Amino acid sequence: MDHFSYRNRILHCDDVPVPALAEKYGTPLYVYSKKTLTHHLKQIQTAFLAVNPLVCYSIKTNGNIHIAKLMVDGGAGCDVTSGGELFRALKAGCPGEKIVFAGVGKTDAELRMAFEAGVFLFNVESEGELFAIADVAKSMNRVAKVALRVNPDLPPKTHAKTDTSVKGVKFGLDIDTVLEFAAKVVKNPHVKVVGLHMHLGSPILSADPYRQGIEKGLILIDKLRAQGHQINVWNMGGGFGIHYRKQEALPASAFAEVIVPGIQKSGCQLVLEPGRFIVGNAGLLVSRVIYTKDSGGKHFVIQDAAMNDLVRPTLYDSFHRIWPVAPAADLAAPPSDYEIANPGTRKVDVVGPVCESGDFLAKDRYLPPVQSGDLLATFSAGAYGMSMSSNYNGRPRAAEILVDGGEHHLIRRRETFDDLIRPEVEC
Ligand SMILES: *Cc1c(COP(=O)(O)O)cnc(C)c1O
Repeated sequence: MDHFSYRNRILHCDDVPVPALAEKYGTPLYVYSKKTLTHHLKQIQTAFLAVNPLVCYSIKTNGNIHIAKLMVDGGAGCDVTSGGELFRALKAGCPGEKIVFAGVGKTDAELRMAFEAGVFLFNVESEGELFAIADVAKSMNRVAKVALRVNPDLPPKTHAKTDTSVKGVKFGLDIDTVLEFAAKVVKNPHVKVVGLHMHLGSPILSADPYRQGIEKGLILIDKLRAQGHQINVWNMGGGFGIHYRKQEALPASAFAEVIVPGIQKSGCQLVLEPGRFIVGNAGLLVSRVIYTKDSGGKHFVIQDAAMNDLVRPTLYDSFHRIWPVAPAADLAAPPSDYEIANPGTRKVDVVGPVCESGDFLAKDRYLPPVQSGDLLATFSAGAYGMSMSSNYNGRPRAAEILVDGGEHHLIRRRETFDDLIRPEVEC
């Protein structure tokens, strides 16, 4: 469920009409619904209530400190993948003991920063990293708590660029050799292996991979305990899919059904690292049509949001629903199925101004006729939208707005041209 709806043919976020936001803040514009964000967090907390999980919001999904703070205020911790994300989590007020630190390439400087912040857990992805953590811990007179990130070698489950638990990806420790590896650190005074970490990939639209991961994990935890490791944390990562096309995603309870019994059997504290599930459908990208153009037998809608604002279609061939913010009377509501030709629509490519053929938000999409000046909404853009944005083609990043009921707050101003060159040394 989200709080975006058409009222009298005008798209609203909660009680705020989207055209008013576009008027006030300009386009392209990210609009987030506070109620939707907290509702999604609550859904996860409720579904997993039986095991009282530590829900660590994945900062890389959308790191705006206002959104992270909302999560922290709602009882969540944070999952960070770099020093920069750790900085954001701390700025948002997240206590160190609720932060988990993932990523295959943690540097010594980042590790030192993490120890200073007192992070709860390091998700370890290689032997080199484990010994680097031990060295840094030693130099700072600390003991690091680590979870071994295991690649459980499951069948492919999502786009190749976002599947993290098939053989041959850079993530995690091989499930076949992780025990040899773990044996080497049983007595290390500076690292304590206290947990197992499994982030399977994203977005995942079935509970099966989690079921398979749990099965393999239970066996592994027994073996790690037999080696002498006191395993008491099980981090199942994130990856819960969302509705991008229609109603294709599972509720949090469907994942809980397969994860909770395994966690109870293991006696571990559950950690989750959801990102997309919380913020994906809590955000939209609003843009304005600049031109329409017919060329090479195709119709193009050229609007002012581009791959630098939302790279998912370019990078992952992702599908985002797009519909006019104020559609014509005879096409008042968005269709339940975007992949069929609804009466009055025609097939267009929705593209941006960036000089790349790969710059598009949608291809071969049935849309009602639009003209310059019309506003478009790209839905499900809250996750991996702003956080993956860039300044490519000299484009200042979009502004971000948080809507709460009838109120709206600027949570990131639009960048200026001066922002573009600010870090460059004067010439
Ligand atoms: C990206 C990532 C997540 C978040 O994934 P979502 O699909 O957004 O829930 C969680 N954990 C790790 C280790 C990640 O890399």
